Amino acid sequence: MKRLSILSLFLLVAMSARAKSPARPRLIVGIVVDQMRWDYLYRYYRHFGPDGFRRLMEDGFRCEQTFINYLPSYTAPGHASIYTGSVPAIHGIAGNDWIERGKSIYCTDDDTALPVGGSMRWGRMSPRSLLTTTVTDELRLATNFRSRAYGISLKDRSSILPAGHLANGAYWFDDSTGTFATSSYYRSKLPSWVDRFNARHPADSLLTEAWTLRDAPASYTQSTADDVRYEGKFSKTAAGTGFPHQAVRIPGGAFTYNGLRYLPAGNRLTLQFAKECIAANELGQGADPDFLCVSLSSTDYAGHRFGPNALEMEDMFIRLDADLAKFLAYLDEGVGAGQYTVFLTADHGAAHNSLFLDDHKVPAGNISEGSLLRDLNHFLSLYTNEDSTVASLENYQVHFKDEYTKKNLIDETQQLSIVLRGSGHGGRPSFSPLIKEKTIQWLKARPEIAEVLDLEESFRNSSVPEQIQTMAANGYYARRCGTLLYILKPGYYAGYAPTGTTHGTWNPYDTHIPLLWYGWGIPKGQTHREVHITDIAATLSALLHIQMPNGCVGKVITDMVD
Ligand code: ZN
Ligand code: ZN
Repeated sequence: MKRLSILSLFLLVAMSARAKSPARPRLIVGIVVDQMRWDYLYRYYRHFGPDGFRRLMEDGFRCEQTFINYLPSYTAPGHASIYTGSVPAIHGIAGNDWIERGKSIYCTDDDTALPVGGSMRWGRMSPRSLLTTTVTDELRLATNFRSRAYGISLKDRSSILPAGHLANGAYWFDDSTGTFATSSYYRSKLPSWVDRFNARHPADSLLTEAWTLRDAPASYTQSTADDVRYEGKFSKTAAGTGFPHQAVRIPGGAFTYNGLRYLPAGNRLTLQFAKECIAANELGQGADPDFLCVSLSSTDYAGHRFGPNALEMEDMFIRLDADLAKFLAYLDEGVGAGQYTVFLTADHGAAHNSLFLDDHKVPAGNISEGSLLRDLNHFLSLYTNEDSTVASLENYQVHFKDEYTKKNLIDETQQLSIVLRGSGHGGRPSFSPLIKEKTIQWLKARPEIAEVLDLEESFRNSSVPEQIQTMAANGYYARRCGTLLYILKPGYYAGYAPTGTTHGTWNPYDTHIPLLWYGWGIPKGQTHREVHITDIAATLSALLHIQMPNGCVGKVITDMVD
């Protein structure tokens, strides 16, 4: 009886606090489906049940023309831009990796952080390289830290960047332990709910099952044959590229947990962990809204390996649709139907496999960054007498080696005097104009390259359309970027193998992303007006009546929120 009255007193306090607050949803759930092309909504529509993707599409609001407005279209800039409403030129996440003062930096690397619950290899991470606030940060600030924000993903960067600087928790999958872990940036030990989840070893039980087609083979009408040369092998020891796929065990019987990333089970595990996070922290039960950021990475790993035309992708989306339906049903039950807001989007899309396009007479190709770099350096050695004038082609940018040495030698005062004298750009000494000119000429003559932009000289002499110049400028954070940016012809991409696919370019297949809104505050409808990835955080801020993130350049999608 006493317990009951304390409980009702608590509820009364919570309810009256809520009554005096602006109208807000109880919980926001952001779902990023990694490497989900916009057209997958319709390509796989025939397979979707009424309660997964179609529930969001038909009972929510669709922004059909949502584009990424910067370069390069990679995972870390994507997640950072969704949650900051900003672009790499401002939030600083210029790639998954970038070159800064001559060193290759991973976007969430942090030497001052230590692993918590995981390994040194995966645990020294934080959002310190992210220069602006996220919408999750702003929600925490707006409610004097009463709102809670969590990030969850198999990928560290897809958990850390969305959850922001003020996150209550960010958890990601550690391949060496097969469990979810965090870092000392957030806390000194794992909370008991994560320990309990990990102690059940859910990854092991998911990995014992081989991946086979869920439905009758004849119902898969959107893909090539199973065993084709466009696809990579699931594992090195696999006989071919076809089903079934089975994670490999290392001698001694344990799994190589990395295999989970490429399976539909990777998405399932992430959503299971997300449910656990909601239950354990009672998200959506407080007087102020909470924010859960979930990113589903297996679609990207499998996409890179098999490509968009593989049966594997068709089956992965069939299974994701079912998992998504269960997750939404869980939110209905746990938080209350109509009480939460969901948005679903992607960090980028992906190209068709270039061999596949070539076989069907569409111009396409795959370039090796390594051999491009070797050939370029060989050519430049005629002028410089050096073996490696260019140190890296990271992020489709030319990073001259000399630029590093200069940057490392010159201290801050000298840099300042260079800036004051007016030579160099953004505190960087400029590189020999002759070498730069020769590099531009050589790159422009390559059959795969459409155009080369001089990032230091505001795209001098470039004839690319303004849209691409804007994307390049939005992606240019001087300290973390090279001197030149090369734009490939449509259908071409760099890196990875001739099999599978990748992304990173300006082209619609990489930058046209789904954007679905559903639930509290969201009317039914759709718009074909062009909106950008940066508009998501601005719109969320309007919906929540909070200040937009401090580097936000996006605009509110007024077609949906008035
Ligand atoms: Zn991605
Ligand atoms: Zn990717």
